Amino acid sequence: MEAMVNNIRVEKAATSKIHDVDFDNLAFGSTYTDHMLVSDFVNGEWKEPKIVPYGPISLEPSAKIFHYGQSIFEGMKAYKDVEGGVWLFRPMENCKRLNKSAERLTIPELPESYFMDGLMALLQLEKDWVPKNPGSSLYIRPFMFASGSGFHASPADEYKFIIALAPSGAYFSGKVKVLIEEKYSRAANGGVGYAKAGGNYAGQFYPTQLAAEKGYQQVIWTDDNNHEFIEEAGAMNVFVRINDTLITAPTSDRILDGITRKSILDIAEDENIATEVRKISVHEVVEAAKNGTLKEMFGAGTAAVVSPIAGFGYKGMDYDLPVLAESYAEKLKKRITDIQYNRAEDKFGWRHQVV
Ligand SMILES: *Cc1c(COP(=O)(O)O)cnc(C)c1O
Repeated sequence: MEAMVNNIRVEKAATSKIHDVDFDNLAFGSTYTDHMLVSDFVNGEWKEPKIVPYGPISLEPSAKIFHYGQSIFEGMKAYKDVEGGVWLFRPMENCKRLNKSAERLTIPELPESYFMDGLMALLQLEKDWVPKNPGSSLYIRPFMFASGSGFHASPADEYKFIIALAPSGAYFSGKVKVLIEEKYSRAANGGVGYAKAGGNYAGQFYPTQLAAEKGYQQVIWTDDNNHEFIEEAGAMNVFVRINDTLITAPTSDRILDGITRKSILDIAEDENIATEVRKISVHEVVEAAKNGTLKEMFGAGTAAVVSPIAGFGYKGMDYDLPVLAESYAEKLKKRITDIQYNRAEDKFGWRHQVV
């Protein structure tokens, strides 16, 4: 069955799985919708994207993704308001960042219209999959990888771009205990840390597993030179509140330019919260914890919005953070999610309506 949605060709799934899904008990990112968007890069160009039934894809064992790791992705969400309207949050930022990542991994740039028009058509088709329970959303996973084959260590000649969708429940991480990393690094100067490359995650799993064995749910990444400055919290940007100032590290080769991070900086300014974008030394954080001026630490990213930190370990010592009646983390999370779910005025122009 062929149809068109918003000028995008659609091959419809024979049956829908939507009635098999328990929308009251959704995990994060493990149930998928009926359709996905696919575009292929062949003969030197990206072909017009089309929507097809969600399902397995077939690749040669010699496909370069398996050997040389040319693989990048994005993470975004669609939110449903009480009237059934569906919204995206700053989607062009994801589109631009995908192409920034693509450039670093020698993957050909995707035309922005393929990303945006394809995503809008897919979401219009799948709008009933956007959950409406509080805190839940439709997680959107755009990704691109080398599908061209050959054991020669060089960029592939063929690539695939796919957008898959996963209705997801609220992301409750609870407060986490983190370990400030002294040995391993997530990223290095001149490396790919600023790109959303799959390999960055592969390299994080082992140190994160070692930290988990010691009772920490997450790693605070430090700079690769001397492990002197804190840079990210797991796969999130990191914020530290000392007294009443909110501090985050500047973006660099090693730090991903998070959309949540920059939205938090703008909202904090709007709330008259003092912000500083500068290097944060581990020494400064430890001293602040000791003298009681360290009020909060939290991760920031699309999945959890903010992920509050209960305490951290460093050089065999554990430091607890205070429990505050009114935290910046809660206040900023509320402001951002009120915009995302169309519950508040959008003075920054961040919302993008789908239907
Ligand atoms: C995706 C990601 C973030 C958060 O980016 P958002 O745009 O806010 O979702 C932060 N750090 C790393 C390493 C990431 O991969």
